[in-house]
Amino acid sequence: VSPAGDELTLDFAKALIENERLGDDGVPDYLGVSFSSTDYVGHLFGPSSLEAEDNILRLDRVLAELLAYVDEKVGLEHTLIVLSADHGGPDAPGYSKSLGIPGGYVDPESWDRESAIARLKREFNIDGELIEKYQHPYVYLSPQITSRSDAERELIERAVAEELARFPEVSLAVSSRALEYGNLPDTELVRAVLRNFNAKRSGDVYVVFKPNWFINDFDGLLVASTHGSPWRYDSFVPVVFAGSDIRPQRIHRRIFTVDVARTLAAYLGIRPPSGATGTVLHEILNK
Ligand SMILES: [Zn+2]
Repeated sequence: VSPAGDELTLDFAKALIENERLGDDGVPDYLGVSFSSTDYVGHLFGPSSLEAEDNILRLDRVLAELLAYVDEKVGLEHTLIVLSADHGGPDAPGYSKSLGIPGGYVDPESWDRESAIARLKREFNIDGELIEKYQHPYVYLSPQITSRSDAERELIERAVAEELARFPEVSLAVSSRALEYGNLPDTELVRAVLRNFNAKRSGDVYVVFKPNWFINDFDGLLVASTHGSPWRYDSFVPVVFAGSDIRPQRIHRRIFTVDVARTLAAYLGIRPPSGATGTVLHEILNK
């Protein structure tokens, strides 16, 4: 949890460029580097913290050093640079509240003890836990209910989802069965949830917290902020293409990070990778 992580990554990237002889011949090479200190510093201190500001200053120096190294070894005129992020993040709730923005920490471990869930246990004759576990973003129900009939399990899952949806920190709760059957409103939020659903591997009830509400437990570590929501502060990231043959411009229409792979393939005139979705960013190709 320090900007030093990015400096180690920089050293590794330089050694890799050198020893793999990237950019040494006429065949394009691809180098992907993840500078991840920003993620950890953001979790521990919050994205608007002084620590995060200091980290970004140091990351800026690290990027400058990497680009200077690439310029020396390969030449930036022969290099296409793509800069992006896999997610954004919310501010720490204390800071958000100081700005009048509501938010807080969610504790799904306590949900099983809520009176609404206790009522469902009585209604469906369930001893012990009904909510066994929460693994973001899914609730897993007690293995007890797997012995119930399919129809009853569906009833229980739907009842749990309905109760969770009424919790003050919850924006949306929907059973995996409902996601599988697909008879849900075609909203942007539901489409985002569906992209994170796998019928074979997902839990029983998908939960979306309200904006600026999240779990502050990060693998057992108490943190200030956690990403992992469909809200704009988590999903809005920069996508920067830079190269000697790319015209300077800003694009304000909505694009997606999955567009990067398709655009790189088109730029190189090669087949996109298997499973690549998204669309080609024509602004990058119309030089
Ligand atoms: Zn993270």
